[in-house]
Amino acid sequence: MYVSSRNKNISVSSSQAIIQGLAQDGGLFVPSKIPSVNINDEKYLTMSYKDVAKDILALYLDDFTKEEIDFCVENAYTDMFETDEIVPVKKADGLYFIELYHGKTLAFKDVALSILPFLIVTAKKKNKIKEDILIVTATSGDTGKAALEAFKDRSGIKIIVYYPDTGVSDMQKHQMITQQGNNLHVYAISGNFDDAQTAVKKAFNSSEFKNKLKNQGYILSSANSINIGRLVPQIVYYFTSYFQLVKTGEIKLGDKINIAVPTGNFGNILAAYYASTMGLPVNKLVCASNKNKVLADFFLDNGTYDINREFYTTESPSMDILISSNFERILYHASNGNTEFVNKKMQELKDNGKYKVALDILAEMDIFAGEFTDEIDCKLAIQNVFNSANYLIDSHTAVAVNAYQKYNSKKMENNKVLIASTASPFKFPAFVLEAIDEKLDKNTKAFDALRKLERISKIKIPKSLADSEFFEKRFDKTINANDLEESIFNFLKTQN
Ligand SMILES: *Cc1c(COP(=O)(O)O)cnc(C)c1O
Repeated sequence: MYVSSRNKNISVSSSQAIIQGLAQDGGLFVPSKIPSVNINDEKYLTMSYKDVAKDILALYLDDFTKEEIDFCVENAYTDMFETDEIVPVKKADGLYFIELYHGKTLAFKDVALSILPFLIVTAKKKNKIKEDILIVTATSGDTGKAALEAFKDRSGIKIIVYYPDTGVSDMQKHQMITQQGNNLHVYAISGNFDDAQTAVKKAFNSSEFKNKLKNQGYILSSANSINIGRLVPQIVYYFTSYFQLVKTGEIKLGDKINIAVPTGNFGNILAAYYASTMGLPVNKLVCASNKNKVLADFFLDNGTYDINREFYTTESPSMDILISSNFERILYHASNGNTEFVNKKMQELKDNGKYKVALDILAEMDIFAGEFTDEIDCKLAIQNVFNSANYLIDSHTAVAVNAYQKYNSKKMENNKVLIASTASPFKFPAFVLEAIDEKLDKNTKAFDALRKLERISKIKIPKSLADSEFFEKRFDKTINANDLEESIFNFLKTQN
């Protein structure tokens, strides 16, 4: 069962939690009990990615039958990724990169979003829901494209994506506004990601809006990482990557590892936290921030979460976030399910833009460490890894690499470290080229930069990107946050 992080009396099955996305009191659904896995069971060492996924998903989706889980996993991960392993682990420069970006849209979001439509369709059937599902999603760049691609032309589902008009990279924008499919729409929204996410959350919390939708035959749901249908599939790759290190002899079963995750909304690293709580041997989870370092500061400065600060647009746009939604789930777990505490902190955040947690709560978060990386160090990290290992990483992954190096220059730990490699370098060609010292003309077009990167790295441009170069631009409208609901109804009018 899942309960709201703000009220344990709101409890639902996993399939209901997937459909609703967010609890009706604005809380996030959290598992009432985090399951455990016997890591010493050697069966895992011979299992495929899909089989481990089936195992882990069954622990969290307890109202799904085995057949239903098989159906979801097989559809999500058969012929959807460019690599057979789904999520390969590559060693470079003494680090182990979990390459999470071999799906359709070249970001780690694909791993969870490839399966979410199947989880939703199955959940809808189980709960005998007749209405269509309307997915409304705010994106800092990568979720939007991954969700569009995953939900495109699926019957019984519509999807609208809002991206901040200041913030996403050229390539991210190109990918979204050229999206094909008939059941979907993309809008730019004036402002940054927090503005977009706040507007979407407001719609989710309005029962008037939801009733109006219901009268038109739609139920609102979310593809954002607040949805447990996003979160649970992300737990899988921390296990498979660990087993990969064991299989290749880099570690022994039971050895503790460190994991560094480039963090924005705190979804990916939360999945790593669940994995470690389930029994994955983890020493530290390093939460890596870019210049928008609210989270790093929280861990570095004794538990103060403070968004009263300048917002920066950076070269790692998917991490340009001040309000990390999923952090609420950690407050819930660290306080041992104290919903009164969670409510109080969320109210303080709303009223004052900040809150502080007591040292005993902070002690419960001891597995986390925070570090941050500015734009210069981010660039240097790309350059260093390329020069010493001939291995290319993107700007988000580089934030994690540099943050980890900062962390370990203080701690000097010998643990092997997994770096969550969250996007393909081809998604950010201009910045990556600059980082490895290739001078680019200011007017270089994104796709020309891409071809240059292909020549230098000798890695072929991923097919999905190459194919999209001459796709027509379909969506060019920017709306104000206040007009979000209206824009949704306008889209739905076109859908009958
Ligand atoms: C979304 C994203 C992140 C941040 O992940 P969270 O789960 O929001 O913390 C990091 N890197 C890339 C490339 C992303 O797309």
